[in-house]
Amino acid sequence: MTALHTGGCRCGQVRFEASADPHHISYCHCADCRKATGAPVSAFVGFREDEVSFEGKTPKTYDNGPVSRGFCANCGSPLFYVDRRLEGRVYFMLGAMDHPGYYKPTLHAYVREQLPFLHMPDNLPRHLKTSVPRPNDGTEE
Ligand SMILES: [Zn+2]
Ligand SMILES: [Zn+2]
Repeated sequence: MTALHTGGCRCGQVRFEASADPHHISYCHCADCRKATGAPVSAFVGFREDEVSFEGKTPKTYDNGPVSRGFCANCGSPLFYVDRRLEGRVYFMLGAMDHPGYYKPTLHAYVREQLPFLHMPDNLPRHLKTSVPRPNDGTEE
């Protein structure tokens, strides 16, 4: 199925849409996502960059190494990240999508950084580190 996937920040100044279905939906338990969002676990919906378009205000970005995270300059909502090592892909915060219930994650990433009191009883694959191999990253899993 190909649908139009839409989302945006809390105040509505930043809007985005994707014209094709996501290639990736996951939870991430890493400490960097935790700091960036303030939430104990994050979830992302990944699209190809060339199928994504933005409307309204340009999001602000904050870089940490190869990862650049976008957020609304007005309301501060975390919106997405891009990773220089994953060219052409953009990962939106699942909660930034207009219909978050549509995007059921298919795996957990970075469970070695998962908070000890957080229990998510599902049967999804659990990756100790990243679920998407980066070039020059021989440490996957
Ligand atoms: Zn906003
Ligand atoms: Zn993460």
